This record gives sequence, structure tokens and C-alpha cells, in this order.
Amino acid sequence: MRIWEAFQELIAGQNPLSLFLYLFVIVGLTAGVLSGFFKARKIQPSGFRWKTFRNEAIFGVINVASSAFLLGGLTSLLTAYGFITFSKEPVGWWVIAAEYVIYFLAFDTYFYWLHRWMHIEPMYKYIHKLHHFSTSPNLLTTLSVNPLESLINGGFVPLFTAALVLHEPTMALIGPTNIIMGLYVHSGYEFLPRWWNKSWATKWFITATFHDQHHKYFNFNFGGYTSIWDKLCGTQRSKYDADWETLKTRRKASVAAPVPAMEKSAAS
Ligand SMILES: [Zn+2]
Ligand SMILES: [Zn+2]
Repeated sequence: MRIWEAFQELIAGQNPLSLFLYLFVIVGLTAGVLSGFFKARKIQPSGFRWKTFRNEAIFGVINVASSAFLLGGLTSLLTAYGFITFSKEPVGWWVIAAEYVIYFLAFDTYFYWLHRWMHIEPMYKYIHKLHHFSTSPNLLTTLSVNPLESLINGGFVPLFTAALVLHEPTMALIGPTNIIMGLYVHSGYEFLPRWWNKSWATKWFITATFHDQHHKYFNFNFGGYTSIWDKLCGTQRSKYDADWETLKTRRKASVAAPVPAMEKSAAS
């Protein structure tokens, strides 16, 4: 994976182009804030609370430290005893693509059903409630998870890699996908185009708005990657498509448009 290694060097600041990359990101973010680009895409314009943000920072640190310990330990134990192995053989891109798709379809199913299970008492109170402190998620909400829940969700990786021998490049793609998806759905901003929920090719994939509504309304939109199970089981919020349109219309109408009814309505 030459491209992947080059990418890692770029991020780590070991490439001559790294400085330009970081300058580009900083200038881009500043321009985004100043021009109202982000403001126009905020899903819940008045949802941010400093106190929640502070609590999430504390829980995030606890969770990352304990999960690294628990999941790292479990993974090295399974690897040491030969349960987890990765193939280092050269492999065609279509095999990697197939493994990637199978992994995420399996994980999506695993996540959906365990997520619904964690919404039932007493699991909700003891495991999942912590992640729901934010009714308007932000980037830190991604990490603000009970370590038990991290163990349940993260446990899929050792289980799946022990059951199937994946190729190394597939694994190298799965990790970053998990991180980027987690951060995106909790970002509090919607960057996807308006046609996303209408196109047959894309409407099956969840959006930041989809998961944001899970935090706001609790009993809908349980999917982590796709809305397939939510659509099959009738757990997708019925007003999701309508709210999506409202959000996208607001962006088009004006940056300073008044807060639409969706933001004011009480949780249903
Ligand atoms: Zn939940
Ligand atoms: Zn969440």
C-alpha cells in the first residue's frame, strides 16, 4: 500500500508537502467560519452547550484510555494465540473492495441490533445513556461513550478478524473509515448535497442529520452506516426526509435565516 504509506507520512508531517496540507486546512477552516459556510450547515443552530462539551471531554479521555487498554489487550491476546491473522499476500483491488463491503454490511447489522438492545432498560441506563448526554452532538460526542459500549461495538473487530482472514490493505482502510464516519455523524454539520437522500445510489447511507436526529429524538435512526435496517424495521424517523429538505432549503435561502420549526419542536 504505497499510497497509504505516503498518506500517513503526509499526516505525520514527514513529507515536504505536509506544511502546505496543514496550511490549507487552517486557511480553509478559517475561510469556512468567516464566510458563514459552517453556520449555514449547522444542523441544530442553537444546540451547543459548554457544560455538555466539558463533560464529554472528560468522558472521552476516560473512554479512550480504558478502551485502548481493554480492546488493545484483547486483540493482542487473540493475535498471540493465533486467532487473529491477516494475509500479507499480494491481492487484487476487487478482493479488497469485496472484503471492505462485507465487513461494513456485517458491522452495520451487528451495530444496529446491539444499539437497539442498548436502548432497552437497564442496558440503556448502565451502558448507553452516557453517549446520549448530548442531544445536539459535536465532535467530542464521538468519543464520549461508556467503555462498556466501546467494548461491545469495538469487539466486532477482533470477532470478525478472528472469523475471517482479511488482507492487510483492507484493514488499513477499515480503521480510518470508522474514525471519519464517527466524527462526521457527530459533527453537528451537514455537508452532503441535497440530492443525497433522493438518489438510489446514496440514500441507503446515513448522514450527520440522520444520527443527529437519533441524539435529539432517541427512539429513531439506530443505524451506524446504512439506514437499511431502520427502513426494514420501521425505525427511521418519519419526518427525516422532510427535515432534510428544511435543512437544505434553509442553507439555500439565507445564512441568517430564522431557526425553522424543526429546531423548536419538542422531542417526539
Ligand atoms: Zn442510541
Ligand atoms: Zn452518537
